[in-house]
Amino acid sequence: MLANCHFDSVANSPGASDDAVSCSVLLEALHSMSNLSTPLQHAVIFLFNGAEENILQASHGFITQHPWAKLVRAFINLEAAGVGGKEIVFQTGPENPWLVQAYVRAVKHPFASVVGQEVFQSGIIPSDTDFRIYRDFGNIPVFLTAVYDMM
Ligand SMILES: [Zn+2]
Repeated sequence: MLANCHFDSVANSPGASDDAVSCSVLLEALHSMSNLSTPLQHAVIFLFNGAEENILQASHGFITQHPWAKLVRAFINLEAAGVGGKEIVFQTGPENPWLVQAYVRAVKHPFASVVGQEVFQSGIIPSDTDFRIYRDFGNIPVFLTAVYDMM
């Protein structure tokens, strides 16, 4: 599994919600996983990329050139829109519902909406995330994007 966030931000922004908070969450997950008494059944790749706001170059570089990219079977992208609100599952990959089902089983209070998926697919918002790069260039069968701080 690939877990992704980005530590760059748009110009003139501290990038706290987009996307430092997600990097903090991934660091904490990495810390917790490193202290497990039993090893995980499958590997987890933590990708803290640094060129998301600049035409998604880092995710593209990873998925098209890194040797580990061929090992990825599922992808979770932690992103942000806005500066307050609940964590929400925002976009999921087509025709692979098992990751969403695993999320629902594993998370105490799962929260999701189809609004983000519909809005991004419609093209109304002239913005994009690493989600699209992994979907379009990675040929990875499952994707899940979680957004923090959405309204
Ligand atoms: Zn972002």
